[in-house]
Amino acid sequence: MKSYKVAIVGAGPAGYFAAQALQNSQNENLKFAIDMIERLPTPWGLVRSGVAPDHPKIKTVAKVFEKIATTEGFRLFGNIELGTDISVSELEDMYDAVVFATGSSRGRKLGIPGEDLPGSLSAADFVPWYNAHPDFTGVDISLDCDTAVVIGAGNVAMDVARMLALEPSELDTTDTAEHALEKLHKSSIRKVHICGRRGPEHAAFTSPELRELPKLEHTDVHIDQHQIAEAIKRAEAEGELPKDLKSNLEAMQAIAEAEKKGHERSMYFHFLATPLEIKGNSRVEEVVFGINEVKDGKVSATGETFAIKCGLVVSAIGYQSDEISGLPYEGGKVKNHDGRIDGRSSYVVGWAKRGPSGVIGTNKSDSTDVMKLLVEDLKEPKPETDLEKLLIERGATIVAQSDWEKINAHEVATGEPLGKPRVKLVSRTEMLGIK
Ligand code: NAP
Repeated sequence: MKSYKVAIVGAGPAGYFAAQALQNSQNENLKFAIDMIERLPTPWGLVRSGVAPDHPKIKTVAKVFEKIATTEGFRLFGNIELGTDISVSELEDMYDAVVFATGSSRGRKLGIPGEDLPGSLSAADFVPWYNAHPDFTGVDISLDCDTAVVIGAGNVAMDVARMLALEPSELDTTDTAEHALEKLHKSSIRKVHICGRRGPEHAAFTSPELRELPKLEHTDVHIDQHQIAEAIKRAEAEGELPKDLKSNLEAMQAIAEAEKKGHERSMYFHFLATPLEIKGNSRVEEVVFGINEVKDGKVSATGETFAIKCGLVVSAIGYQSDEISGLPYEGGKVKNHDGRIDGRSSYVVGWAKRGPSGVIGTNKSDSTDVMKLLVEDLKEPKPETDLEKLLIERGATIVAQSDWEKINAHEVATGEPLGKPRVKLVSRTEMLGIK
């Protein structure tokens, strides 16, 4: 029987699914000791700090993560930062294989004038702020205005728009960060515009998310019926509609046709609108858009423009991975071939491997495929080493699985009397005080 040591860096979905794939490939001749290293004192990655608080069902996948984490041979090393507490080369020396599951946390930039004005920010800052990520508690969000503009036609843009357009009491029984809930309750925002640069037929939203919108109890959602009809005509002219596109367009049509209740809060979809400039003297005052058209299947500028007056702009146009010192980097992700990092016994999974696409479940098949390669590549096991001892010698404070379980239990217990799934701690010191 051969026993191999694998380090997985990053305790998000891709990391856990990689661990699960390794656990599932064990047999009487093959065993894995898995050490998962995570920068934060809390695991679960985007399931904790990305998924919108009003989508609790999506977060139930955390039960699967906890099962993986409590399987024999798995250790969590929370509160340990790659590059500070331990380097890439040290991990590569100590382990038979290293799997990087470090995600993509940096928001892509629009690259237009006015993007850096106060009142303009990226979803990469806004989402972790409302989700209690300890590094984002101080993000300055202008909610003292009537109108917000969200740029992008993907699910992150939709989450952001919904979080801004919901009646805040709808979030009272969720795990929204307490600081965000307090601020959202005082928010003056009543109109949220969500703007895509191409047509409805090109939007990256998925239909379950679109179908929720007409069900919102305190928010009217507007889509121009004519624009959807035109998009359907254009898409049908290209041939039979693929299932997902058909479902998306039907969901948008249902939003357009839904009765508007005259709610104080509303959300407006705009398509074929490219952001050209964010204007304002000392803070955001309006966004200027170029109007596009679709001709022969191609999107092009008409030369005409329109503007939306607003006090807040959130761009949700995708993410990039942060460069990790010691790893090859290319095109916003770790350079790899099908997850293998050339010339070393290291692998990359999830958004750091393929870029920021796909839902949580996408990572299961993706990580499984990469772990098959890892198993194929295994040579003779390396001699025993002790990461825990090394980190303690370096003065690191490790959050082990049993420590995380205490933090988790504390958060859940605090939430219970309030009817919430949990009250998330935001301070590292507080988290470490509980362990
Ligand atoms: P995304 O799905 O790739 O959408 C990005 C959007 O930004 C696209 O509409 C894109 O338009 C637009 N965009 C890019 N550059 C732009 C620019 N310079 N100006 C204007 N618009 C621009 O990315 P995401 O929303 O960040 O989501 C990432 C992944 O997470 C997706 O797979 C998503 O489905 C998933 N996710 C899922 C859920 C859920 O299941 N509920 C929730 C959140 C996220 P073009 O198409 O024209 O480039």
